[in-house]
Amino acid sequence: MAKNVMLKFVNVARDMPQKRPPDLRRQDFNEIYGEYAREKAAEQSGRCSQCGVPYCQSHCPLHNNIPDWLRLTAEGRLQEAYEVSQATNTFPEICGRICPQDRLCEGNCVIEQSGHGTVTIGSVEKYITDTAFEEGWVKPITNAGERAESVGIIGAGPGGLAAADMLRRNGIQVSVYDRYDRAGGLMTYGIPGFKLEKDVVMKRIRQLEEGGVQFVLNCNVGEDIAFDAIRGRHDAVLIATGVYKTRELTGPGSGAEGIVRAIDFLTASNRKSFGDDVPEFDSGALNAKGKKVVVIGGGDTAMDCVRTAVRQGATSVKCLYRRDRANMPGSQREVANAEEEGVEFVWLSSPKGFTGDTVEGVMVQKMRLGQPDATGRQMPELIEGSDYVEEADLVIKALGFEPEDLPKLWGVEGLEVSRWGTIVADFRTHATSIEGVYACGDIQRGASLVVWAIRDGREAAEAMLEYINGAASVAAE
Ligand SMILES: Cc1cc2nc3c(=O)[nH]c(=O)nc-3n(C[C@H](O)[C@H](O)[C@H](O)COP(=O)(O)OP(=O)(O)OC[C@H]3O[C@@H](n4cnc5c(N)ncnc54)[C@H](O)[C@@H]3O)c2cc1C
Ligand code: SF4
Repeated sequence: MAKNVMLKFVNVARDMPQKRPPDLRRQDFNEIYGEYAREKAAEQSGRCSQCGVPYCQSHCPLHNNIPDWLRLTAEGRLQEAYEVSQATNTFPEICGRICPQDRLCEGNCVIEQSGHGTVTIGSVEKYITDTAFEEGWVKPITNAGERAESVGIIGAGPGGLAAADMLRRNGIQVSVYDRYDRAGGLMTYGIPGFKLEKDVVMKRIRQLEEGGVQFVLNCNVGEDIAFDAIRGRHDAVLIATGVYKTRELTGPGSGAEGIVRAIDFLTASNRKSFGDDVPEFDSGALNAKGKKVVVIGGGDTAMDCVRTAVRQGATSVKCLYRRDRANMPGSQREVANAEEEGVEFVWLSSPKGFTGDTVEGVMVQKMRLGQPDATGRQMPELIEGSDYVEEADLVIKALGFEPEDLPKLWGVEGLEVSRWGTIVADFRTHATSIEGVYACGDIQRGASLVVWAIRDGREAAEAMLEYINGAASVAAE
């Protein structure tokens, strides 16, 4: 009988892949975690308790078959583990790196709840697909036969790319339009390399190109080409444009020079890492080197900004957030990483205004947590008379993103949007109020996660295939 390699959580402790020391991490934009060795991946996978009802799987937006690929990894059957893993996830190596696992799969691991420390699901998922790439198990995108029908996808982020992948595997002609010069959306220009190295994203984009996806880059829909023109070219259209309108600061001095948007700061930094010419970085406007930096916000974007500023050589980096550590939206793992790298968190603090024509300081108001609001979160309340000035010569606004007004920007009548500006679409088929037009990812959900965009993109592709097949069978009658 085969030896049981599972349920080792009682004797084997949780062990993440090695993390580079903070002093080294601060000097570059490379990922901070190493890769498991084969034996370590098998050992850590073997900690899984193989639950009959796996909560990790039900809390993974893609419902990845986690217990099965953990067992196969523990048994050394890595190629099979890869086959199972890629069946439900278009980009497992990306999710393994950047999903907030503490809120998703790992946060619901039963052995974590019994005090043994969660199975390191994300790190194993990353290991399996990185190995599959090295071993040549990742096959090119192919199909059983080319079809004449085509889909136009607006937005080359994870939502659009996941849909493109599935449509090409079904023989549909796919054009992906994006206003940037590189595909990948926020995976390319938002998320920094220390969480997701750019080669990892570019490898997938090459795979899609080689699989026949046509990328139409530097093409801003609504400016360079009309939305209606795209509709006219294709049998179905997917809107996957993400959300990019920055929530703004108010208060005196909020328009001062030296107060910049997180997305501009991060995009400039990512472009530098690609070796691009970035005048706003070279001029110092979007470069933290030698500056006292204050980042305002408590989400993942704020975490990425503080850690980018550290790597650029800021003299000090502080993060101002109006609630406390326990109530911040950002991942606790990222806060810990930021603290290790020298970031100081100033909890229960909110900006009231700014000093200087070119920013010199942030006028800070101290807060306390009061009664819970309708969602159960404690509301921050002002502590009168506690104001002070925090010195700063670069302030980064990381207060979140909202959708652009697409119907207005694109002059599209009949495209229904919610009161938040997101596109109203069915949550299973992703069909919008216009026939043949679908939406997925952040532009449908509001600012969310890569893994949700992937799920949406896959679902939208399925629905578009059904729609196209339906139209084809009517035409054939
Ligand atoms: C700084 C930052 C860090 C993040 N970190 C994480 C993380 O660690 N883990 C995680 O899971 N999620 C993270 N997220 C969230 C995640 O990146 C998004 O939820 C995800 O990328 C959304 O995918 P999407 O395909 O909907 O849109 P996007 O990735 O935003 O892609 C949309 C694409 O559409 C293009 N586009 C927009 N308008 C037009 C137009 N008019 N014409 C042509 N093209 C257009 C854009 O150029 C872009 O390439 C982070 C987000 C930010 C901002
Ligand atoms: S996709 Fe994300 S949530 Fe799902 S198993 Fe992988 S890391 Fe966990």
